Amino acid sequence: MRNNFGIKILVTVLCVCGAAALPLSLPRLADIDAPGEIKANLSSRLELSETDESSEDDAWQLILVNADNPLPDGFRPDLTELSGGHRIDKRVYPHLQKMFDDARQKGIRPAISSSYRTAEQQQEELDQKTEEYIRQGYSREKALETAKKWAAIPGTSEHQTGLAVDITTADASVQAADVIWKWLEKNSYKYGFIKRYPEDKIDITGISGEPWHFRYVGLKAAKEIHRRGICLEEYLETFRKK
Ligand SMILES: [Zn+2]
Repeated sequence: MRNNFGIKILVTVLCVCGAAALPLSLPRLADIDAPGEIKANLSSRLELSETDESSEDDAWQLILVNADNPLPDGFRPDLTELSGGHRIDKRVYPHLQKMFDDARQKGIRPAISSSYRTAEQQQEELDQKTEEYIRQGYSREKALETAKKWAAIPGTSEHQTGLAVDITTADASVQAADVIWKWLEKNSYKYGFIKRYPEDKIDITGISGEPWHFRYVGLKAAKEIHRRGICLEEYLETFRKK
C-alpha cells in the first residue's frame, strides 16, 4: 500500500493525446494479444476496491498533461514491459491487466495500439502526422497546426506519462473497434480508467475526440468522472475548489 499523503497536491501538467490516430487512419494495431498473456498471475492478486483507492496517494495518477501543462523536465515513469514492445507505468499495469481479463471474459478482444512514448517517439508521431497533411496539400505551417490536434508536441502528450493507452480491436475482421470502445466507455472506470478525450469535451481538452485513448486516473476519480460525465480538466477544477 502506498502512503496516504499528498492527496490534495496535484501536479498540474495538462494534455493532447499525442494521438495515435488520424480520423483517416485508425490506430495502428500492435502485435500484441493483450497484456494479460504475459503476467496473468499478477491480476489474480489484485483486489480492486475503494479501500485500496483511499489509501493511495492520488497525485501521480491525477497528473494533468496538455499543451498548457507540459511534463516536468526529466520526468521518468517506472515502467512495466508488455508484449509487443509496449510499456506502461508499473502501478497501472495490474489495473490494465484486470480490465483486459474481464473484457475477454465478456467476449471483448482488446489490443493495445500505443502506450508509453519517449519524447523522441512523440516527436516522430508529430512529424508523421505533419507529413500526412503536407501530402494532402497543406502548407507546412498549416500541416503542423492541424497535426497538433492529433499529435501533441513532445512534453505535452499523455503517452509520455506511462498512464495512457490506445486500445483497439485485436482483429477487425472478428470484432469491430467500436464494440471494444463501447465496452471500455461503459466499464473502464471500474478499473480506474477514463475515456480521456470525449467528443463533447473538445473545447476543454483541446483534443479531437479519441474513442481509443484511455487514461488511468485511479478508481475514485474515474468513478466520479464517469458518473458526472465530465473530463479530467473539469474534475481537477472542482477538486481544487474543495
Ligand atoms: Zn492516445
